[in-house]
Amino acid sequence: MKKKVKKWLEDGSVDVFLGYKMVHGHPLPHCFTLEDVAEVDELIVSEARYSLEKIATHLTRQDPKIKIGLLARDCNQRAINILSVWHQLDLEKIKTLNVNCCPSNLKAHPDCSYMTVETPGAYKQQVGIDNTIDTETADAFSKEAKTIRWMYEFQKCIKCYGCRNICPVCFCTECSLEHKDLIGPGNLPPQVPIFHLVRAAHMAGRCIDCGLCEDACPMDIPLRLLYRKVNRIVKDVFDYDTGESSEQSPFSLIGDSVKLTLKPM
Ligand code: SF4
Ligand code: SF4
Repeated sequence: MKKKVKKWLEDGSVDVFLGYKMVHGHPLPHCFTLEDVAEVDELIVSEARYSLEKIATHLTRQDPKIKIGLLARDCNQRAINILSVWHQLDLEKIKTLNVNCCPSNLKAHPDCSYMTVETPGAYKQQVGIDNTIDTETADAFSKEAKTIRWMYEFQKCIKCYGCRNICPVCFCTECSLEHKDLIGPGNLPPQVPIFHLVRAAHMAGRCIDCGLCEDACPMDIPLRLLYRKVNRIVKDVFDYDTGESSEQSPFSLIGDSVKLTLKPM
């Protein structure tokens, strides 16, 4: 793998290569270049997960001609598909080195740190949403229980923007979640449930279920389940498989040029 990356840099197939290297004992995202090609010997494939394609999007914005190589697990590849569909990355300028998916290293979903309960997880299972349940189980709650449980989760939010910042497919240059008429500055928790529903709506047909947002969330809010639910609606209504291919038109509810496949109901 290291030989291949060096070759790509040396023969000009890529201008930079995005991977990981250990820094003070921690695997961190790193941009390898021809100027310091010997550094490629420090390239590692660890269980570290980061949205390298998000860095690629930023680099492309600065220099649309740049050719980028990157390590790609399955989720990175799905994100690259979405970023291509939305014209944020040009696949002609992207080369991937595919690596096997690690066992999920998502955190073990501890309960809120500010809740003291005898049985860890019990309080959340009673009044909130257990992060490990599937969309069908969440759907089976009564309407009232769903509202109470999701509100419990949303009101924990400290508006750190970690979920948005880590998300590979959050690429807007202006973010609704920072619009003062929608989300009041200084309000904590941020407007419940608007903050989370706005983000969920924006993830329709975009979220590739990498789980990085939930991994980053310090308040253990079951974000992945929320976006899975949104994408299941997109699948049911529009027969759209988010991230599966770079060939499909972007999912959108507006715009004449957008092709949507409406599934017969
Ligand atoms: S799982 Fe979270 S971080 Fe990953 S694409 Fe979906 S919203 Fe973004
Ligand atoms: S990462 Fe969690 S706490 Fe931070 S803004 Fe997102 S949902 Fe809220």
